[in-house]
Amino acid sequence: MGFPKLIINETKFKTNVKVAIDICKEHNITVLAVTKGFCGNKRMARLYYEAGIRHFGDSRLENFEIFNGFQNIHKQLLRIPMISEIPEVVKICDSSLNGDINVIEKISEYCLVKKLKPHEIVLMVDLGDRREGILPEEALVTAQKIAKLKGVKLIGLGCNFGCYGARIPSNEAMAKFVKIQHEIENELNIKLTHMSGGNSLSLHMVWENRMPKEINFLRMGFAMIFGTEDMYRKTIKGMFRDAFVCEAEVVEVDYKSSLPIGACGIDAFGHKPYFKDIGTIKRVICAIGKLDTMFDAMIPYDKDLKILGGSSDHLIINANDSKINYKSGDIIKFDLDWGSLLYLFNSKYVKKEFIK
Ligand SMILES: *Cc1c(COP(=O)(O)O)cnc(C)c1O
Repeated sequence: MGFPKLIINETKFKTNVKVAIDICKEHNITVLAVTKGFCGNKRMARLYYEAGIRHFGDSRLENFEIFNGFQNIHKQLLRIPMISEIPEVVKICDSSLNGDINVIEKISEYCLVKKLKPHEIVLMVDLGDRREGILPEEALVTAQKIAKLKGVKLIGLGCNFGCYGARIPSNEAMAKFVKIQHEIENELNIKLTHMSGGNSLSLHMVWENRMPKEINFLRMGFAMIFGTEDMYRKTIKGMFRDAFVCEAEVVEVDYKSSLPIGACGIDAFGHKPYFKDIGTIKRVICAIGKLDTMFDAMIPYDKDLKILGGSSDHLIINANDSKINYKSGDIIKFDLDWGSLLYLFNSKYVKKEFIK
């Protein structure tokens, strides 16, 4: 039962993390390492810790137990909290990202009733990506409201790019962000000590010396996992693109016409597929399916292979152009992307193998 397999190269991953820490440290930025892609895998949290990470973020409360036993760490909830999970949020997390004053008021209320220390709030500001966060023009008023609440403490601001709206961070957006910080600090006479300047997509601004000096945190997963910057998709100097790879076993090799036969209904996932007639093709079927991974985020090492599609349990590949004569029992290797990494970590059918 060795396959499918997700292989994690510990040395390469830790190298990626250390390179990210070094790039950021030079600009007085702390890396808050994001673990949500690992779906609660304890070993992954340990690798981050061994590489020097002390600030962690996850979007799911269930995953936070992977940090048990770590000393002197900060745990941040990345998804704006549900009101229904507030008791767990304040118990488990040191801080949370927030974008709704009603939720923040409820957090404060809860902490006061339970006589807990104020929960730390990072207020998200939407600089254009149109996911979470308050609008820039509402920031000061919202901060004033938060400052009046006794059960929470506003420790800083956060922004995010490239997730929903696929917006790229810019000098202008970041200038607006720190202007808001200064306004709030001056008006309310407080210090915002946690300025969270985005995710992996913001890393290139750091090494290009374009990140305002006020930014002292980046929340990062992708860049350290894949050794690439979301923006340019080029391997970052000193990092590895292949710290995570997937291996699947070939269970059938056949020659069939590229066109299915019979009237066309809908496929296993409710879609009406389109097929181009390219004659008979050599097809390789791997024992890995949509239950385990996201096909369009799987990149075969053998560049001559083309993924055709598949179903819950089968991945079908066109091997016409390959120089390799695949047969059942062979192992096919894939580079990964965010979507496939998420699924593979989350699938109990995929074996996780850690190598040095
Ligand atoms: C997932 C997440 C991140 C990490 O993004 P990467 O692209 O993996 O660096 C950062 N911030 C928030 C709010 C997130 O949910």
